[in-house]
Amino acid sequence: MNFSPADWREHFPLLEKFRAESPLHYLDNAATGQCCYAAMNAATAFETQSRANVLRGTYRLAERADAAYEHARHQVAAYLNAASADEIVFTSGTTASINLVAHAFGDMLQPGDEVVLSLVEHHSNFVPWQLLRERRGVILRLLPLAADGRLDLSRLDETFTPRCRLVAVTHASNVTGAVSDIAPLVEAARAVGARVLLDGAQAVQHGPVDVAALGIDFYAFSGHKAFGPTGVGVLWGRGKALAALPPFLGGGGMIEHVGVERTTYASPPRRFEAGTPPIAQAIGLGAALDWLREQPWAAMNAHTARLAQRLLDGLAVLPGLTFVGPHDLRERLPIVSFNFEGIHPHDACQVLDEFGVAVRGGHHCAQPLMDYFKVQGAVRASIAPYNDEADIDALLAGLKDAVRKLK
Ligand code: PMP
Repeated sequence: MNFSPADWREHFPLLEKFRAESPLHYLDNAATGQCCYAAMNAATAFETQSRANVLRGTYRLAERADAAYEHARHQVAAYLNAASADEIVFTSGTTASINLVAHAFGDMLQPGDEVVLSLVEHHSNFVPWQLLRERRGVILRLLPLAADGRLDLSRLDETFTPRCRLVAVTHASNVTGAVSDIAPLVEAARAVGARVLLDGAQAVQHGPVDVAALGIDFYAFSGHKAFGPTGVGVLWGRGKALAALPPFLGGGGMIEHVGVERTTYASPPRRFEAGTPPIAQAIGLGAALDWLREQPWAAMNAHTARLAQRLLDGLAVLPGLTFVGPHDLRERLPIVSFNFEGIHPHDACQVLDEFGVAVRGGHHCAQPLMDYFKVQGAVRASIAPYNDEADIDALLAGLKDAVRKLK
C-alpha cells in the first residue's frame, strides 16, 4: 500500500496549523506523539453526546457512556492481539501501569526473590523496582549491555536464577531505539517460572503489537505516545497473570462487596481501576489505535527507517559527533541520540529551536544508561511517519549552525 507523509500529516491538527503559520520540524516523538483527529473526535463525541460516569448509572446516557468506554477496551485489545478485552486495564500511563505491577505482583514476593532489569530502562521501569527492593527486600539483577547499549543476551544463565520471579525490560529503548530481543528472555524466564513484563512505551507507536506472539505476561504503554490523548495508558495482563494479582489502589469501582470487616474485589480489569477512570481519554485512545491498526505499517516503517538512515548519514560527517547508542539501523526504531564534543545538549537544542526543530536534550529519564555511556546527556531525534526529508534536513542544517556557534 502506498504511503505519503503529507497525507498522514492531515490527520494531525497541530501539524497542519504549524505548516500554515511557521515551520515546525517535530522530532520529539519519543517524548510524545502528536494527537490524531480520530482520538480527538471520539473524545469530543463522548463529551458532547454520552458524558456520564461509567459503571454506576442505569439511565440511558450512562449506558451509552459505559458502552463507549468498554468499546475502547475492545479496540485496545485488537491493537495488542489480546485474547480478551478483560485483559485491558486503563491506567494513567506507562508509569502507572508499571507501578501497578510493582505493587500488586511485587508485594507477593519474598525477601531474596529476584527481579531482572537492565541498564537501558527508563526511570519508570527502574525506580518502581528499587522502591520494591526497599519494601520487600527483593534482589534486582541487571542484564549486561553490549558496547552500543543493546542488551547482551549471550550469558542469560548468569542472570536468571531459580529465585527469579519477574523480568521487566523495555520493548524498545527511548534513548538508543534498540528493540529488545524478547524470545530468549521469555525462554529464560519460563525456564525458572518467572513472569515477563515489557515496557512498550516506545514500541507501541510503530505499529500493532502482538502480545500473544511475544509470549509475555504484562505489557505497559501510554496513550500520548501512540498519537492518542494524554492522561491515559494501558496495562495488558495475560488473563491468568492478571487474575492472580491482588488490588493495588482501593476505592470505588474495584470492589464486589464492601463490608466493615471484609471486602471482596471485582474481577480484572475492574479490580485495577479504582475511582473514576480517564473516560474520554480512554475512548480517544481506543479510536486512535483503531485508526492506527488500519495504517500501512510496512510502508510507514520503511519510510521512517529511510529518514533515520538519512539522519545517520548526515550526522556521521559532522565533526566531533559521537552516537549514544548504535549507529546502524539493525533492529531499532527511528530514534537517534548523539553528542557533540564540547557542546551541552541543551545548548544544541536551543539553537535547533531557532530552525523550528523540536528535539529533546538531556538524560531522557535514563540516567543509569547515561552513566554506562559516561555522558551527562544526549540530543535525541525521534521520527514518526508524518516526518519527511525536510524535517531531517532542517535538523542537520541546525546542527551545523550549532557546531559553528557553540564550538
Ligand atoms: N518507558 C519508556 C521507554 C518511555 O520512553 C517513557 C516515556 N518517556 C516511559 C516509560 C514513561 O511514560 P509515561 O511518562 O507516559 O508514563
